[in-house]
Amino acid sequence: ADTGELDARVSVCRACPRLVTWREEVAAVRRAAYADQPYWGRPVSSFGPADARILIVGLAPAAHGGNRTGRIFTGDRSGDWLFASLHRVGLAALATSQAAGDGQSLRATRIVAAVRCAPPANKPTTAERDACRPWLVRDLELVRPTLRVVVVLGGFAWAALWPALARAGYSVPAPRVRFGHGARAELPGTGVRVVGCYHPSQQNTFTGRVTEVMLDTIFASAAAQAEV
Ligand code: SF4
Repeated sequence: ADTGELDARVSVCRACPRLVTWREEVAAVRRAAYADQPYWGRPVSSFGPADARILIVGLAPAAHGGNRTGRIFTGDRSGDWLFASLHRVGLAALATSQAAGDGQSLRATRIVAAVRCAPPANKPTTAERDACRPWLVRDLELVRPTLRVVVVLGGFAWAALWPALARAGYSVPAPRVRFGHGARAELPGTGVRVVGCYHPSQQNTFTGRVTEVMLDTIFASAAAQAEV
C-alpha cells in the first residue's frame, strides 16, 4: 500500500472499543465549540513523505489536537513545540501546525504515532498499544528503503517501537537500550540509528524537563545523520 491507501485504511479502524468510544465522545461534546471547522474524531494517520529518512514516533493523538484537526501533532501545545523545532532545524516548512491544509510540509521526515486514536488522559493501555502495532509496522515497512534515523518521543513510544521494528523485519539489538533523552541504538546491518527524546508534552515543557535547545539538538543531529 502507498501512504494514501494506508492512511485510508487507518482512518476507519475500530479495533479498540475504549478508544473508539472516547474519540467519538470527545468529538461529539467538543464539536459545538469548534462549530466553524470539521471535528475529526477518528484515527489519525501519519504525516510526511513515504520516502522519509527520518521517522518521528509519538505517543498518540491529543484529544483536542490530532483528534480534532485530523493531523498528528496539529492544533495542540506539543505540536507547537515539535513543529517549531523541526522548522528551526530545516525539517518543517512552517513553524506552526494549527490545522490540516495550512501548507505545512515535512522535509524527508514522517511523523507517526504508536497509538493512532486519542486515549483518555493521554494514556493508552498496553492492549491498545499492541492492537495498534500493525499500523506502526506498516509505516516502518514503508520507509524502510530510505530510513536513516528514528527519533522516539517518550518511553511509551520507545517500548512500542522495538517489537514493531522486529515485526517489520529489522534486526534489533539485544539487550534493548533503556529509554532516555539522547539514548541511542543502532539497528544491526542497516545503518539506521534510533534516538530517544523526551516528549514535548505540556508537562515536560512547562517544567523545563524539555527545552527548545534539547529538541533542536536531537533533530539537528538526526538531520545531519540522515544527510537531509
Ligand atoms: Fe485502530 Fe489503533 Fe485506533 Fe485501536 S488505536 S482503534 S488499533 S487505529
